[in-house]
Amino acid sequence: MKKVVKFGGSSLASAEQFKKVGNIIKSDEDRNYVVPSAPGKRNAQDTKVTDMLYATYAYAEKGNDFSKALKAIEARYNEIIEGLELDLSLEKEFEVIAENFKNKAGSDYAASRGEYLNGIIMANYLGYEFVDSATVIFFDEEGNFMADKTNEVLSKRLEGVERAVIPGFYGAKEDGTVKTFSRGGSDITGSIVAKAVKADVYENWTDVSGFLIADPRIIDNPKGIETITYRELRELSYMGATVLHEDAIFPVRKEGIPINIRNTNAPKDEGTWIVESTCQKPKYVITGIAGKKGFCAINIEKDMMNSEIGFGRKVLHVFEENEISFEHVPSGIDTMTVFVHQDEFEAKEQKVLSGLHKLAQPDSIDLESDLALIAVVGRGMKATRGTAGRIFSALAHANVNVKMIDQGSSELNIIIGVTNNEFEAAIKAIYDIFVVAQL
Ligand code: ASP
Repeated sequence: MKKVVKFGGSSLASAEQFKKVGNIIKSDEDRNYVVPSAPGKRNAQDTKVTDMLYATYAYAEKGNDFSKALKAIEARYNEIIEGLELDLSLEKEFEVIAENFKNKAGSDYAASRGEYLNGIIMANYLGYEFVDSATVIFFDEEGNFMADKTNEVLSKRLEGVERAVIPGFYGAKEDGTVKTFSRGGSDITGSIVAKAVKADVYENWTDVSGFLIADPRIIDNPKGIETITYRELRELSYMGATVLHEDAIFPVRKEGIPINIRNTNAPKDEGTWIVESTCQKPKYVITGIAGKKGFCAINIEKDMMNSEIGFGRKVLHVFEENEISFEHVPSGIDTMTVFVHQDEFEAKEQKVLSGLHKLAQPDSIDLESDLALIAVVGRGMKATRGTAGRIFSALAHANVNVKMIDQGSSELNIIIGVTNNEFEAAIKAIYDIFVVAQL
């Protein structure tokens, strides 16, 4: 068995956390390839090293004396090195970093040093080989990730290397300039490494025991999700459930490598398994509930709309022209509604309205803002009758008015629109009927 293990920032925020990570790695000899993040927050008031690096670089770029700010970052690493009693000094590394900051190496370079330095410490602590991601993960001129070249070089580089540390979050363009993924991108690195070494599993260690059925800020102590498919996960993460970077799915999904989300602070918990497909029956009819506030509905009415060929295209063309992506387009016989993100829409509102009048000539347009969308997701819904009925009777009992309903033909999810004010009550009602009532 071969496992790739990625550890998030909170798992590596201090020497104490590093020791937990060391124990996790040593307790299973299959954990051969380690992808670390930069040190995260040690407590709620703390600052992530990545944020310190961005801020320090921005300060340096303006020509300020940044030595004190850089020293504070060095101190974070030294605290870890001392706590682990390692025979290691990063002094030379920090000299190089200071020099590169002065030479304006770029904010991506600056941010990447968080994982780079943590990788050096991790490799030293474990006695694993250190592989600099700038030599094995590639981006093109425009900054797009180069999947094929990376896979080729990385798999060759790790061939015969039994145990290695590969820092997360960054790679380099072909000219050697360091480039990072978007924030939280170490998850992507883990997935890329898992693909390159053809791992049996990609373990992603964080500070929660996997995905929860609903947001714990809304539901007290929600149940965890044991197994979720990639498609279900995509639906839930799109709707705001964030544990894993969205792009981390793609490299492993194609290879059929499962991702196991685990908790560094509770290593015995099984966490969540993310898989391509499973015949395992989910414990509840629904796998998860997620949602987002802040949508706006544009209701368009026109007599005989149903027989006007091309009406929908004209409407959507106006949104495209204004570079606004739409979320859902439920329609009636003579009505069509377009759901959009309120913050994307507000500034362009009048332009969109006049565009719609000009192109589609509707009888009336009416706007409704402060709406929320809730996705009830579950592969189990397909085989079960009455799911929609249960959702809507639960919402009716909770006095929640349903503004919109959308169920795709995949029967994987039901999307419900409610007002922002009723968002929490709606999620509670759905959770109660499917989870609490089953206990
Ligand atoms: N350190 C980076 C961030 O804070 C990347 C990561 O942790 O995945 O976004």
